[in-house]
Amino acid sequence: MSTVATKTDLAYQQCIMPHCGETYDVGEVRTSCDKCGSLLDIVYQWDSLPVPKKLREFEAKWMRRNEPLCRSGVWRFHELLPFADPEKVVTIGEGQTPLMASEGVGSFVGMKPGQLFLEYEGMNPSGSFKDNGMTAAFTHAHTIGAKRAACASTGNTSASLALYCCVSKLMQAVIFIGSGKISYGKLSQALDYGALTIQIAGDFDDAMQRVREISSRLGIYLVNSVNPFRLEGQKTIMFRVLESLNWEVPDWIVVPGGNLGNSSSFAKAFHELKELGLVDRIPRLAIINAKGADTLYELVENRGLRWNQGKPNSEVMDTYYAELDAAHLRADTIASAIEINRPVNLFKCLRGLECMDGVVREVTDQQILDAKAQVGMSGLGCEPASAASVAGAKMLREEGIIDPSERVVCILTGHQLKDPTATVAYHTSDQKEFDRVLGSRGVSRAAFANRAVQVENDLDAIVRSIQLNS
Ligand SMILES: *Cc1c(COP(=O)(O)O)cnc(C)c1O
Ligand SMILES: [Zn+2]
Repeated sequence: MSTVATKTDLAYQQCIMPHCGETYDVGEVRTSCDKCGSLLDIVYQWDSLPVPKKLREFEAKWMRRNEPLCRSGVWRFHELLPFADPEKVVTIGEGQTPLMASEGVGSFVGMKPGQLFLEYEGMNPSGSFKDNGMTAAFTHAHTIGAKRAACASTGNTSASLALYCCVSKLMQAVIFIGSGKISYGKLSQALDYGALTIQIAGDFDDAMQRVREISSRLGIYLVNSVNPFRLEGQKTIMFRVLESLNWEVPDWIVVPGGNLGNSSSFAKAFHELKELGLVDRIPRLAIINAKGADTLYELVENRGLRWNQGKPNSEVMDTYYAELDAAHLRADTIASAIEINRPVNLFKCLRGLECMDGVVREVTDQQILDAKAQVGMSGLGCEPASAASVAGAKMLREEGIIDPSERVVCILTGHQLKDPTATVAYHTSDQKEFDRVLGSRGVSRAAFANRAVQVENDLDAIVRSIQLNS
């Protein structure tokens, strides 16, 4: 295996704010800068590290896929996240995810044939993209000798953490969830995998605040996406997208925005690839909020908040959060994975938007579920939050910001079976059930419903019904 940047001179943690730039050893556990409280990056001295001259060189790793690090869709790009000692890597075969062209979803979005791609991160071991980041954070936790790891979660981070703990037997998982805002698919994973599950009376934003306090008080390793190592793993989603496109850079990456870790990691990936001369251009980024949890959209598109080359006007954010509190506004959307009003990676994400000439949009629950039904019909299927990417791409196409002949990659962040309640309610013929689950979210119709046909238990009636409906 290649040289590793375990020494501070090859890899270190650094405050993202240019006016601060404080650095910390990779062996330290921290989620913010001591000096100014901002987020941290993992930074590398690329000049002293063995980086391939061409991305294509990574293809050779497939030949060695009987080695666990080459089979992992994260660690076969180890040279591009060289903070980890290969001996300490904890992998469960994450990141073996396909990029699929979809004619059906493409025509729904309004693209020319062959231009719309779906990156299916639902195929990860725990069923969401979170495994890409978890393997990296978990590896760091293992390296520094952590015995317990915690997260607050709308569901998928906890499912992922619980799985890594359960398979590796290296740590105990402690997960914090809000009350009533977690889909059964996700909760069932955490319970099955044996995580200590703490359900607090409050929503995700409350749980997030608590888990930060608890982990610093009890010295538990925090794996939420404020953890900069997680974002290193998530960069590889972009490497795999490029690999699937024969190393050609697409025009657009479209991704749902929750805590904004994924979008931030994508921008870091492209920023580094460009710096290393491994790509010649950077795609544009579209981050899609749900209308019921639209902090990024509000701040960027309505209030003009920008990274501003490292001098963001944080008063704009403070004012908005004070308004949310004064109005007792809580995030509310069917897309539970992005039901977050105070995204922890906001400033990293602003930097990412600047780097990738990005845009932000918000879509309604109705638009999300209709898009989700189209993804389902394409044969992949995803959970509601993931479909925000497709709904957002359609919106940007209609606005003329995405051109029909551009190449668009939508990230499907989580598996269809994560939240079957939403899917079944959408397709149901029972208006009461539809209203109970979806109506309160402002969803009034299911444009692509595939309703079950009700028929009495009688052979002739069943035959008639089949003839009538096929
Ligand atoms: C976590 C998650 C998101 C949001 O990703 P962020 O990095 O928090 O913005 C979107 N979709 C799914 C399915 C998720 O699990
Ligand atoms: Zn700082």
